[in-house]
Amino acid sequence: MTECAPGNAGFAALIVEDDQAVCDLLQRIVESLGYTAVVCTTTASAIAAFTAGSPHLILMDWLLPDMDGLELCRAFRTSERGKYLTILMISGKDSPEDIATAIAAGVNYFMAKPVERKVLDIWLSAAAQHVRDCLQREGADLALAKIQEELVDNNLQLEEALSRANAMAMEAEQAYIEINQIFKTVAGGIILVDKHCNILRCNDSFLRMAGVGREKVHDHKCYEIFHSCLCNTEECPLRRIRKGEKRIESEIEKEDPDGRTVYYSIISTPFKGPSGDLLGVVEHITDITERVKAEKALAESERRYKELSLIDELTRLFNKRYFNTHLQLEVERANRHGHPLSLLLLDIDNFKHHNDTYGHADGDRVLARLGQVIAESLRVNDVPCRYGGEEFTIILPVTSGEQATVVAERIRTRFAGEIFQPTPQETVRKTVSIGVTQYRAGESGQSLLERADQNMYEAKQSGKNRYVLK
Ligand code: GH3
Ligand code: MG
Ligand code: MG
Repeated sequence: MTECAPGNAGFAALIVEDDQAVCDLLQRIVESLGYTAVVCTTTASAIAAFTAGSPHLILMDWLLPDMDGLELCRAFRTSERGKYLTILMISGKDSPEDIATAIAAGVNYFMAKPVERKVLDIWLSAAAQHVRDCLQREGADLALAKIQEELVDNNLQLEEALSRANAMAMEAEQAYIEINQIFKTVAGGIILVDKHCNILRCNDSFLRMAGVGREKVHDHKCYEIFHSCLCNTEECPLRRIRKGEKRIESEIEKEDPDGRTVYYSIISTPFKGPSGDLLGVVEHITDITERVKAEKALAESERRYKELSLIDELTRLFNKRYFNTHLQLEVERANRHGHPLSLLLLDIDNFKHHNDTYGHADGDRVLARLGQVIAESLRVNDVPCRYGGEEFTIILPVTSGEQATVVAERIRTRFAGEIFQPTPQETVRKTVSIGVTQYRAGESGQSLLERADQNMYEAKQSGKNRYVLK
């Protein structure tokens, strides 16, 4: 027994025994073996001592005053540390059936009363080993429980990470579906181009615009698939985005796969990765051909309208409205600077006859030809106008009446030399009569015009195909 003493130091023993003599004996012995002993004579105090002291070894009687010892044994066994207890029952009830019943209730060792010291020593020695085994098992179980706890914790963390990953995967899938939807339904073409001009992604509208199949996109650069005047210049949207621009709007003109001219608007924005780093450019391309054509048509019609309001359509000379305003201007200028100013008034001879004989359309051809002859016979500052019908006026700034007759004669002879062929069989020549006059300081434009008209009339009177200067 003495050899057990040092090994049992720190172990606690609970003695539950209503026989005081047995109690004392047991206490003495277990304390001599190194145990700290607590003695209880009732079950109530035993339960309290058990809860407070966490004993390793229990020596107990069966027949207790307030409870069946086996019931108490079961209560110990079902407690939290129950499986690590070493219970030695010492009882007068010691038939083989009793011992079997006690063992079934959780007793480890059984010893019959009266207590025989040698037998008790044997049992206590075995019990001491059992206590140590139990402690070792408890330690191992605790370590295992800790590992299991950590495992459960790890599992929980893993499950959380997994569910986060699942949620992210679902989000990514949703985003993928949405992007696909946008690519399919957006008006116009969309392309994702990386920093090296490779097309990462594009929609069907873009393929139609570029006139290529999807398979061709993968092994060609963007400038090969959809070449424009921006490619390889400083205006290339990818280049500008790489230099830090955030949004670029460009308009380009291109030939479509069928050879028609089309106009595209391109909005380019940076294509960034999850951490905000630049991966390339996103380009949204819209066909604006209709809009550009409408704008061009509008501009052209505005230009035409403006021209029409100043220009006579048949002869391409200025019209009467322009003549009136311009004559006024030149009169003011002549008065201000004292420059000479002259005016010619031309009228086609026997034009009514021509119209009556060959038709109005042919008369128009004569008028147009005279317009041409006049335009080709003047200097840039001269202002030729169709005054009305078959009458023409020409304002000659900084020109004297004498000098104006040179112009009048030039036009007269050139026009007289023009040959018209109103029918395949006939050729006709036409002439003009011209009134020439120089501005007289202080007079009105109207008076200048009237004098030119009188001179023209005089030219008619004196035989036509001539000019008269007065
Ligand atoms: P005169 O030698 O005295 O000038 O005789 P005329 O027949 O030329 O003169 P008149 O004034 O009698 O006739 C002018 C004609 O010019 C009448 C008209 O039919 C014609 N005329 C006026 N404007 C146009 C036009 O825009 N186109 C054509 N084809 N004829 C026109
Ligand atoms: Mg006339
Ligand atoms: Mg005439």
